[in-house]
This record gives sequence, structure tokens and C-alpha cells, in this order.
Amino acid sequence: MDAKKFRGHAHRVADWMVDYLEQVERYPVRAPVAPGEIRLQIPRSPPTEAVDLGLIMKDFEHVLLPGMTHWQHPSFFAYFQANSSPPSVLAEMITAALGAQCMSWETSPAATELEEAVLEWLREMTGLPDGFVGSIQDTASSATVTALVVARERATAGRANRTGLGREAPLTVYCSEEAHSSVEKAVGIVGIGRDQLRKIPVRDDGALDGPRLQVAIAADQDAGLVPAAVVASLGTTGASGFDRLAEIGPLCGERGLWLHVDAAWAGSALILPEYRWMIDGIDYVDSLVFNPHKWLFTNFDCSAFYVRDVDALLDAMSILPEYLRTRQQGVTNYRDWGIALGRRFRALKLWFVIRSYGVKGLQEMIRNHITWAGEFAAAIDADPDFELIRAPVLSLLCFRYRPAGHPVSDLDELNERLVQELNDSGALYVNHTRLAGDYVIRFVVGQTHTTRAHVMAGWDTIRRIAQSLGG
Ligand SMILES: *Cc1c(COP(=O)(O)O)cnc(C)c1O
Repeated sequence: MDAKKFRGHAHRVADWMVDYLEQVERYPVRAPVAPGEIRLQIPRSPPTEAVDLGLIMKDFEHVLLPGMTHWQHPSFFAYFQANSSPPSVLAEMITAALGAQCMSWETSPAATELEEAVLEWLREMTGLPDGFVGSIQDTASSATVTALVVARERATAGRANRTGLGREAPLTVYCSEEAHSSVEKAVGIVGIGRDQLRKIPVRDDGALDGPRLQVAIAADQDAGLVPAAVVASLGTTGASGFDRLAEIGPLCGERGLWLHVDAAWAGSALILPEYRWMIDGIDYVDSLVFNPHKWLFTNFDCSAFYVRDVDALLDAMSILPEYLRTRQQGVTNYRDWGIALGRRFRALKLWFVIRSYGVKGLQEMIRNHITWAGEFAAAIDADPDFELIRAPVLSLLCFRYRPAGHPVSDLDELNERLVQELNDSGALYVNHTRLAGDYVIRFVVGQTHTTRAHVMAGWDTIRRIAQSLGG
């Protein structure tokens, strides 16, 4: 494709992007397709001859777009959002155009130095203390794997990396029973073994129960096991529980456990000073991850991973074959900070986003989400046919439909049908979880383009569809 053609297509794609985002509400939020429906329309064999880009775009719109779930739809209230924003998209286009592989300082000095600078901005914005040093990882899952590798090496004095865990006493890791599944996955990946993950019960408010953690650690130690790490959660995925770092921290400190914090979603709210209570006890923390790709208007993928002891991280992760040797001393080579060698230029989109909105603008957007979630919760509370199960601490709330006189034993089934009808309607997208065994509807306010009107329209739709189900 020559420059002239590329330019023409680039303009058309740019127009398409703006139109799409401007008109995203025309689409059903969740893709209304059955498994295999899209695949059937894709030829079994690759084209031998070149296909014109105009035709590729046409097929994209007609074949693929109907099979997309629209995460940038303002009525996307499911999971945690993967929110984006115009400045983030623009930066991502530039990143693609540069096509740089930013594994080492030398392979793109600006990418490395911007990443250092922007992660320092983010550290300051979120109120993390001086001494935490950040890097961008693809996901919170990878950051947690990395943190547990460092914890594993600390617990085995660096032996696990060299000789494996075969000759070591078994290591153990602790988290709350509401921690994200990525923690268990990571414990398996780093070779500690999923059976060595202790899921500590939570209190009524969803926070890990400190005394029970203490008992579990002591019991393992007495049995000859080696407690290596605690993964604390800020903002659990199921129901927005917040572990207390100030309670957990000293238990880790006394016994030399690595304390990693998974704040994947809630961490972005640390840019609001009124939510810094979340990190009371941060001085005990060894590492923390949160996802600007969830709630800081920066498109997937972008996880901010902070560690205090960078040397421990580098000791565990770095490896230097001859072909990767570069001559500069005292520079950061981010290839040594995570799992993958290759790295995209992801700092650029954070830089675009933070500068475009300013800290104030970002704070206002997150504050609005929290306010609207509170209003939504108040509306549920005021309706006798609905029950608020978890009030929002930030902007995640859980509720269920409980019409008067409906047999309690059928409520799970009724709410399951409600979620299905809501999502089939295309008007909005919610998901569910189970709390204390009950099926509950999860509703998160956090999409970039969501307004108060979308949240309240969501409530009207929920009420209308619930009534149509009878009960
Ligand atoms: C979303 C989420 C994760 C996983 O995030 P990825 O970046 O997709 O790996 C982990 N922990 C919590 C609490 C989450 O909400």
C-alpha cells in the first residue's frame, strides 16, 4: 500500500472511529449473536490474492461488528469497564504507527523515559508514597504473577529460579476468599501450587479477617511450610470488599511475607483524596497494581505496577543474553520488569490522557460515577420490590429483584431471568455474582461516556423489565 492509498484509508478509518463512538448507542450493548455465527461467515482459507482495503472495511462492518460487545457504550454496566477516551485512542494510533518495540532503553529511549515520568505522575496522583517505582504491565494478572515470582525468590533466597521448587519446603500464599481468580491462577503459574493458596474468610463488609489470617500463617509455619506472600484486595470484583492494609501489613512484616495489593479496579479512585483511606497502611506494602485500563479512561491494555524494592524485582526477573546487551549504564530496561521481553509504547496513551483531562478533569469524571452509583443505590433502596445487597463503596453495587409475595426459593431463578432479559434487550449490559450463595445483579458505573441520564434510564429499564416478568 503506497502512501497515497494509506492516507486515504487512514482518513476513512479515522472518520469511521469518530462516527462509531458518536453513534455507539445505536447498537445493542451485548453482541446478540449465537456461538459460531460469526465464524461461519469467515472463509476457511486465507485469500491468495490481495483484497482491497475498502472491501476489508466493508466486511468488518457487516460481518464482524454485529459480533462485537460494545464496551464503549454508555449503558455498559457489567464486569468492570474497560474504558477508553478520545485522547487515549489517538495515542494508541500513534503507538501503532511508530510500531516500536520498547524492551530496552536503547530500543526507544523516549518510551522508557516517558514511562518512568508518567508512572511517577500516577504515583503522585494516587497518593502512593515516595519510594514506589512503577512500570506498565499488560494486565493485573501479569503483575500479580510477577509479584509472586519476586515473593517466591525472596522466600527461597533466589533458589527457586535456579533449581526449581522441588527441593524446597512448600511455600504458601494468602488472600481473602473474595480475591480475584487471577491470584489463584498466579499461584499455580509460579509453581507454588494452587493447593498452597489459603483463602481466608471475610468479615461482613467483605474485608479479609485479620485474626484468621494470623492463625493460618502461624499454623502453616508450625507445620514446616514457608509462608511467602499475602495478596490483599482493594475493591473485590464480586462485591467491592476492601482488605485493611494496616491490619494485614504488620502480620506480613513480622514474618517477612511479601505484601502485594490487587487494586485492579478501585485503584484509579485513589486520585480522589477522599478515598485514600483505602491505602491506610501502605507503608507495609511491597507491591501494588491497578488498571488505568479499567477506570482511568486509558484503553486496554495498561496496568500500573508499583514495587518498592526494585532490586528484588530485577534480581528475580532479569536475564541478560549477549544479544540483549546494550552499552548504557544506569538506564532502565523495562524488559527486566515483567514477563514479556517485548513491550509496546503504552506510556504514550497515559501521557495523552493525563494531559488532556488534567488531574482535575479525571477526578471529576470518577467522582461523578461514584455520585451516580449512589443515586442509583438510593433508588433501589426506595423501591420495595428490590433489595440492595451491597451498598456501593465506590461505584459497584449489588442488588436483586424481590417482589412482594414471591417465594424466596425462586429468587435466584427470577433474577437470572431478569439479567438475561435485560441483556437480550440490548438497552444495557449488567452481569451477576453470588453473595452468601444468592444470585445477585452486579451494576458498575464507570464507562467514560456514561451520564447520570444513562444510569437513571438503566434503572427505569430494570424496573420495567422486572415488572414484565411478573413475580
Ligand atoms: C479485573 C481484575 C483483575 C484482572 O485484571 P486483568 O488486568 O484483566 O488481568 C484482577 N483483580 C481484580 C480485583 C480485578 O477487578
